[in-house]
Amino acid sequence: MEKEAVTAVIATSVSHCGATVAKTVPIQRLSHAASHGVGLSPVSDAFDLGGGIDPLQSLARPDGDLRLHPDVDVLRTLGGAPGFAWAPVDRTYPDGSPYPLDQRLFAKRMIAQLAATGTSARAGFEIEWSVGLPDDGFTPGTDGGPYGARRILARHDYVRDVITALDECGIPVEQLHPEYAPGQFEVALPTRDPLTAADEVVLAKLAIGTVTDAHGLRASFSPMVTPDLTGNGGHLHFSLSRAGHPLFGGGEGPGGLAPDGEHVVAGLVAHLPGLLAITAPASVSYLRLRPNEWAGVYRVWGVENREAPIRLVPALDPQAANVEVKNADLMANPYLFVGCVLAVASATLSGDVVEQLPEPVVGDPGLSDCERLPSTLTEAVAAFRADPVLASAMGEDLHRTIAESREAEVRRTAGMSADEIVASTRWWAG
Ligand code: GLU
Ligand code: MG
Repeated sequence: MEKEAVTAVIATSVSHCGATVAKTVPIQRLSHAASHGVGLSPVSDAFDLGGGIDPLQSLARPDGDLRLHPDVDVLRTLGGAPGFAWAPVDRTYPDGSPYPLDQRLFAKRMIAQLAATGTSARAGFEIEWSVGLPDDGFTPGTDGGPYGARRILARHDYVRDVITALDECGIPVEQLHPEYAPGQFEVALPTRDPLTAADEVVLAKLAIGTVTDAHGLRASFSPMVTPDLTGNGGHLHFSLSRAGHPLFGGGEGPGGLAPDGEHVVAGLVAHLPGLLAITAPASVSYLRLRPNEWAGVYRVWGVENREAPIRLVPALDPQAANVEVKNADLMANPYLFVGCVLAVASATLSGDVVEQLPEPVVGDPGLSDCERLPSTLTEAVAAFRADPVLASAMGEDLHRTIAESREAEVRRTAGMSADEIVASTRWWAG
């Protein structure tokens, strides 16, 4: 990137509840910040989605400090915000030792753990967002029907600026389309190593939000912007390979799965209930998780089945075959999301977890007797607390404090109607 043009670097981490937390460092201070860190209280992981701090969250303490070290190897232009660059941070204790609750560190650990099984991963996210007029309710900021070309052309200057900004970020857009709901768009991010894929979700949301503001519109990455319209997902596509052989393509199993790929898919199906507290972390997430919305509410997998939360996507080139995790929204911390999926994959590939692969679901799972996944955050957090694979991968403190954050979200929204829950995070920008 062109450092000359940069005045300041926005350095981000993502909290337990999925909020992007930032410090800004003048460019002249960047190398000092990278080596010495910038201070931030560990309490930032205790913030809830309403901006409050739940007193029962054990991170809700006035003492302690962390140092944020911008990862200068990842420094990018922040498209749409002239003069700004962006970098994710690594968080350490003041003595420089790694902060074990850091979500990005967890993702790195899980990538290394997967590598220890001789397996490497590639990943790419899809980002759905709603564009509204700057009023309190939700008035779509562009017209045009589901997937309608009119939605692009009515706001062609906006769509062009989003694509340009993402390109400036070093995120060449694979494709952008108008999604199903009024005012809704989707962009597919490129396939990367899993850490970069998670980093780029953070950067892409910042750039999209910035461009949307500049057009006098508002962008929401909330799973729901009204209780009735189709929601915003944040799906993850990933593929695995061992010694150059893909696990999700070119095999003899259903949809072309190789034997190890079957184990991974079986493991993901088995752990879907616990994973839900990571992929759908807020009360509003469960308003999105309805049948027939392609949001994946049954404990099933399928081949090219958009109602399945685990969707195998075969490809002519077996290397391009991938698994999509669909029951996820953009309130999910992308580092925890990637880390937990890879934790389950590693556990199955190392033989620690052996699950039987169920039959792939064909057609609408709602028409057969398929098990529903947790339909409330309360149920999901109970499954998460009881998931031994996620608990051991995360370590006691990270696992417990995430559960506490989910329980704080349950308390924050207790007694609210669906309308009130949606309104409380309608303009959530992450
Ligand atoms: N908008 C849907 C969701 O909430 C996803 C639609 C799709 O499959 O792209 O996840
Ligand atoms: Mg979509």
